[in-house]
Formats: sequence, C-alpha cells, structure tokens
Amino acid sequence: MAVASWLGPTVNFLISSFGFIVKCAPFRYNKYCGQPHQHGPPIEIFTKQLHRAPRPEPGPRPNTRPAAANKPSSQTRQARPRKGEFSCNSPGACCHYSTKSRRLQFSYRTDREESMARYVKKYSSQRKPKKPRFYPLWALFAAAAVAIGGWAVQYFQDRPADQADAPSTSLADENQTRVYFLDVGQGDSELIRLPDGVNILIDAGTNATEDELPEYLKDLGVSRIDVLIATHPHEDHIGGMDTVIRSLEIGKVCMPDLSADATPTTKTYESVLDAIAEKGLKVTRATPGAVLYENETADIRLTLLAPLENDDDNLNNYSVVAKLTCGNRSFLFTGDAEKEVEDALLASGADLSADVLKCGHHGSKTSTSADFLAAVHPGAAVISCGLDNDYGHPSDPVVKRLNKAGISIYRTDQQDTLLAQCDGDAIAFTTGLPSVLPDKYGQG
Ligand SMILES: [Zn+2]
Repeated sequence: MAVASWLGPTVNFLISSFGFIVKCAPFRYNKYCGQPHQHGPPIEIFTKQLHRAPRPEPGPRPNTRPAAANKPSSQTRQARPRKGEFSCNSPGACCHYSTKSRRLQFSYRTDREESMARYVKKYSSQRKPKKPRFYPLWALFAAAAVAIGGWAVQYFQDRPADQADAPSTSLADENQTRVYFLDVGQGDSELIRLPDGVNILIDAGTNATEDELPEYLKDLGVSRIDVLIATHPHEDHIGGMDTVIRSLEIGKVCMPDLSADATPTTKTYESVLDAIAEKGLKVTRATPGAVLYENETADIRLTLLAPLENDDDNLNNYSVVAKLTCGNRSFLFTGDAEKEVEDALLASGADLSADVLKCGHHGSKTSTSADFLAAVHPGAAVISCGLDNDYGHPSDPVVKRLNKAGISIYRTDQQDTLLAQCDGDAIAFTTGLPSVLPDKYGQG
C-alpha cells in the first residue's frame, strides 16, 4: 500500500521527464545549413550541421553518385579543414562531407534542384536509421529529477506526525488503551480511548483552544465522550469544556463537590454549567473510591482517589485524582492537586502506584513531592504546560527530582501532544502529535 502510494507519482514523474527530454533535445541540432542559398530553404534532412561550412569554391561538377556519400574523394578530404567541419567542391551545389555523420551533406540551388532532389530521395532511402543518441547532460538532469522526486515522495510518506496537517490516528492501535495527553498550551486535557470504544476526557484545556479542541477530538474520530471529568473549575482545565459539551455527545459528567466559598463565579465556570444545563446532563459528584468505568473482561477500570475531605479554599486541592488501571499497568491523573492532597492520599493508604504519573499542577513545585513520587514510583512522568509559560512550569526542583529517580519525562510544551498506548503489559509513548494550539510555533 505504501509502495503503491508513491509508485504512481514517481512513474508519472519519470514519464513526464522523459517526454520533456525527447521533446527538447533535438533543438540543439535543429539548425539549418549555414550555406547561402539563392532559392528555397535548405533540405531539412541535412540540417544536422554544427558548424558553418565554407562557401563553395569553383571546381568540377560534384560527384553525385551515392557511393560518394560514404566514401568521399581525396579532394573532398583535403578540403576538410577540421574534424566536424565541412568541405565543398561543387560549383553549383552546396555539398559537404560530415566527419561526424560520415556522409555527404548538401543543399542545392534552383538549377540543380531536380537532380539533387533525386539524389536526396535516393540517398534518404539509403540512410541508416538513426541510432539513439545518448545525451549525458540530459541523463544527468533526469537522474537528478528522479532522485529529487523520489526523495519528495518518500519525505511526505515518512513525514513525522508533528508535521502532519491534522491529528492522525494511524499511529494508534484500537485494540489497546490509548491515552492522549493533549497539548492545549498552559492547561490540562487528557483523552482516554478504550478498546471497547469508550472515550473518557479528563479536563478540556483553556479558553484559548475552546474552538479547536472539539474539532481536534472529531478529527481523532471521537463523537461521544462517555465520561467527562472536570478535575477542578480553573480556566486552564475547563476553558474548553463548554464547547466540548455543546459539540459532542456526552455521557457522564463528573466534577468535585465544591463548598459554597470555593465555588467560582467566573464566566468560564458559568458557561460550563450553562452547557450542562442546555444538554440536560446530570453531574456526578466526584468521591474517592468511585469507579467511573470498568470493563472486567478487558481488566480496565477508572477509579477516583480524590478529592478527599478538606476545608481548603484552594481550588487546586479540590482536584479529582483518578487512576486508570489497564491490565498490569496503570496511569495516575492528579489534576492540579498539591502537596497537601498528596500527603492526604499517602495517609489514606490508597494504592498510589502507577506506571505513568501525570504530574500535578503542570510540574509546579507545589506538587510531585518526594514522598508522593516515591509512593507512585512511576516509570514515566507527563508534564502538561505551555511553551515558555509565565509560571516557570515545570519547576527545576521537580524536574531534578524526576531525573534523579530515573523517571522518563514527557512534556507537552516540548513534545506537543503525547500518546501512551497500553496493551495491558507494556506502555509505548509516541511524541510529537499535532498540538491543539493553532499557532504554537507562530505558524498560524
Ligand atoms: Zn492547572
């Protein structure tokens, strides 16, 4: 399939290149005889002359016997000054011997037209068919064109995903659990796609990508979100949630239960509540221990670990913490939970171990504490933050802590959208998928 896709364009390219060469090459030689003629044009079959022949000198009648065509007289040979030039010893006709073609070549004047035309006719019938010429320069051009064409086809065939025009699903295996850490800039959004077709979206990025996110999800083939989780009502997590709710079919909506004092009055939050109301959706309050999704056959489940009870007014610490178990592997999503929540989770005795940790609060120093990291003991850590963000995320201490523990770090600011695929035993990361941001690198 891959070979067929570039073979066609390459063959077309070769054919067009060859046609161009065949069409253009003869022009180099398509010059009329340089001899002066009083009447009529030169005879075209004798026009392969590269050099202007000398004007004919008075002399005996030309030897018009056909044998002369292949065997020039000694006088003719004497008159031949240089290789490739032509001599002429005919008073009434312009007659030359070509050292290049080894033939007599001539044109004629009116008084010789008839006899010369007969000669030409006979001579023409005796001419050997042209041998195909080999044009080194044209061949070189053709080879270069083929090489460039082949390279171009191969380039676009093997183009990395980060240069693609739209999010590609070609890298995703539908039989595996696919976790996309979407690059929404300085925000969070993770899409979980399960083998049975269930889609779970944790957070929906910022207001800056609220128009792009639903389209991005649709491009991935997502038309329904079965479980939609808003970890906490900050704009960098729920900015695009209203458009997602309005654009896609929504199953379950899960949000933390906020105290009256902590409930925001922002336009962003109200817009989300409006969208929920418009769709007539019910909100499931996030509680620790709740299982939002389970497929026993596939051994896949999504369990909530937080929010735990707290009287903190810090919205970050209301974050829903969710653990996705996929066979023998697991992912831990922590929203913007800070050290206080991490300590509470450690104290709760919950199984925090996970192979992939989505670092809390965009890699801020407020989260991913040493004890929490030791309990989770991940093999890979994902940091979702904006390129050159104003918050200094991720913080150097967190990055150093991860590096010191030998944990692989994946960052949306540096590697765009990330894809982690899990078959139950192994997790494979793909980086460089298209960003949801329309102008991340200033390319519009
Ligand atoms: Zn945040």
